[in-house]
Amino acid sequence: MVLSTNLGYPRVGADRELKKAVEAYWKGASGLADLQKTAADLRMRHWNLQKKAGLNHIPSNDFSFYDHVLDMSALFGCVPARYKWDGAKVTPELYFAMARGNAQVSAMEMVKWFDTNYHYMVPEFAPGQTFKLSSSKIFDEYSEAKDAGIETRPVLLGPISYLMLGKYKGDGETPWGALWDAILPVYDEILGKLAALGAEWVQIDEPCLTTADWDGVENVYKTTYARLAQAAGSTRILLATYFEGLNQNMETTLNLPVDAIHVDLRRAPGQLDKVLETLPSDKILSLGVVDGRNIWKNNLSASLDVIEKAVAKLGKDRVWVAPSCSMLHSPNDLALEDKLDHQIKSWMAYATQKLDELATLAKGANEGRDAIKSALEASDKVAQDRKTSPRIHDAAVQKRMAAITPDMSQRKSSFDLRQKKQQEALGLPAYPTTSIGSFPQTDTIRKERAAYKKGTLPEADYLKAMKDEIAQVVQWQEEIGVDVLVHGEPERNDMVEYFGEQLAGFTFSKNGWVQSYGSRCVKPPIIYGDVSRPKPMTVEWSTYAQSLTDKPMKGMLTGPITILCWSFVRDDQPRSDTCKQIALAIRDEVQDLEKAGITIIQIDEPAIREGLPLRRQDWDSYLDWAVESFKIGTTGVEDTTQIHTHMCYSEFNDIIDSIGALDADVISIETSRSQMKLLDAFVAYKYPNEIGPGVWDIHSPRIPSQDEMAALLQKAAQVLDPSQIWVNPDCGLKTRGWAEVKPAMLHMVNAAKAMREKLRKAA
Ligand code: GLN
Ligand code: ZN
Repeated sequence: MVLSTNLGYPRVGADRELKKAVEAYWKGASGLADLQKTAADLRMRHWNLQKKAGLNHIPSNDFSFYDHVLDMSALFGCVPARYKWDGAKVTPELYFAMARGNAQVSAMEMVKWFDTNYHYMVPEFAPGQTFKLSSSKIFDEYSEAKDAGIETRPVLLGPISYLMLGKYKGDGETPWGALWDAILPVYDEILGKLAALGAEWVQIDEPCLTTADWDGVENVYKTTYARLAQAAGSTRILLATYFEGLNQNMETTLNLPVDAIHVDLRRAPGQLDKVLETLPSDKILSLGVVDGRNIWKNNLSASLDVIEKAVAKLGKDRVWVAPSCSMLHSPNDLALEDKLDHQIKSWMAYATQKLDELATLAKGANEGRDAIKSALEASDKVAQDRKTSPRIHDAAVQKRMAAITPDMSQRKSSFDLRQKKQQEALGLPAYPTTSIGSFPQTDTIRKERAAYKKGTLPEADYLKAMKDEIAQVVQWQEEIGVDVLVHGEPERNDMVEYFGEQLAGFTFSKNGWVQSYGSRCVKPPIIYGDVSRPKPMTVEWSTYAQSLTDKPMKGMLTGPITILCWSFVRDDQPRSDTCKQIALAIRDEVQDLEKAGITIIQIDEPAIREGLPLRRQDWDSYLDWAVESFKIGTTGVEDTTQIHTHMCYSEFNDIIDSIGALDADVISIETSRSQMKLLDAFVAYKYPNEIGPGVWDIHSPRIPSQDEMAALLQKAAQVLDPSQIWVNPDCGLKTRGWAEVKPAMLHMVNAAKAMREKLRKAA
């Protein structure tokens, strides 16, 4: 029989119960028992939901108080020395200290989980690292479900991915061999215990397997899994891969001594034929056909085509239906969306709805299409609707897309010439000062915006409040002597949402929360149709701000790649097309700003680096369309209009060619925390355009001194031409308070003045 299975369920709860409970616990507003009760209730609710939907394999240990990779570190007792752990059990206090740090000790590093917007806590390995079973979470949760009459499939991250995702903190090369030798006995122990508890299946995730291309991949996986299979005894192993196809490791993976293998057929549908051909006859194939990372309904008949093909080759007993990856990356329950447009909602599915899709697909595979006739009809209708709906397909946008020509991504003149013209037009001093766009979003501003959105503050009052705010920050910037002013973005809630709300083709959910890290959830905009700009979005704000000063007022926009990366996107056209549609809208906005007399325009692209595909061989094509999109957005202006871009949290080494190809007149980046180390890529590349290396770490409440910032500028001046250098903070200041921003900005302006003085003396 074809089984319906799940790889993981969103843990935060439909009403973000876990977030609220964890934060209350952190604040001391509730005790550990309350937190544990909420957690247990959520787990039980989610297991029951899956049981009710009719799922045959339900995961456990997919729950986490903070992060599942941190859970693994707790499981192995992989606790960095700075936490002064006694080596007994990893307590909740210690666990949260590792997650978030506290007054005495810093948190563990956090980075993005593959190409998702989820962040995991990076395991840290010390010289002589040992591992020992130090948490009973995985066993407790299995037993908890079992006691409630639900047999679950415990999930754990595999040893190779766990080690690969960590960082060795000693000198020299990572001692892989020693780490392996140390960690495998703990896996043996875990699997042995699960077997003793009676677990029928265990799910071992090895997402790193899809991209691994180091020497000896095959050998390491083979040896490891032969050992784990032995340790698992009567418990059978599902090895799960996701986020990419098996690619070069297809043979290796499919021949590992495990009982079932999961493949992601949403990300890599093309691998199916080869997988079916290669899979040894003793193994079960888990088909990831329902997208675990998106919010669209599954096309059931298309999925059934895939499942039936697999069944024809393998037989029903060797085929499972599954989501492409854990549903951790999907919002919880669409039923709670009472404000969404009806038709758009009819195209969507959140995790709860995806469970039904999985069960329906398995039923269709087992009993034939007739058994799920009405579900298939409904699904076909949605597919047809999305193919033809005028709300999705906009002929005017299509026409513009077809008319994109190469000259639409070229400035009129080369940078040298533009630079001269801009110098003449703008008359800026050396080391010009500016900031990235936002100023503190004070409680007053937030309250005013919330009241306006709720309808309790009339529009005229709201506009006046924001304009007053702008007038104040303009005056203050003039007073302290900033060269290129910003209006402070008080009217923006979020740098993507603000634009999405004004663009056609976007909608917003009320409850579409997805965990980003720990208790933090994000609610990405939903791009459902062709994107266009009904009317100018920022021109009034920018021209108002410009009217208050003779200094240049910089206009700020979010770029097409970032808008794309931080939204739920359509699955019915390539991402590159959606990106170019957004780019055309941004192009119009840039041109309108220019027409309105704004001479400096910044297009923020903090997400360009994170948008990189997982496999290096896919990078070029992504970078090609990403660069083209940025240029479509920014090049439709006169030479005298100065285009800035801004990028934060990025390492540039891998993509510096493309950063150069963006041909922005000025780029500002985050460099202060790395003490200008991130500049290296620009130096090695001989980056020709102007650049503002951030001199103030805005993630910290600390106020840097003038000397400190001047020292960073001095460092930059040693490797760049002083005439290239701009002076700015690392990023926008919306999360900071005025008590920090006022002195720090003044210190920054004075640091720039000191640098100018030095330059004058040297001349
Ligand atoms: N212009 C935005 C701001 O200043 C940029 C934010 C970002 O790069 N993350 O807030
Ligand atoms: Zn930034």
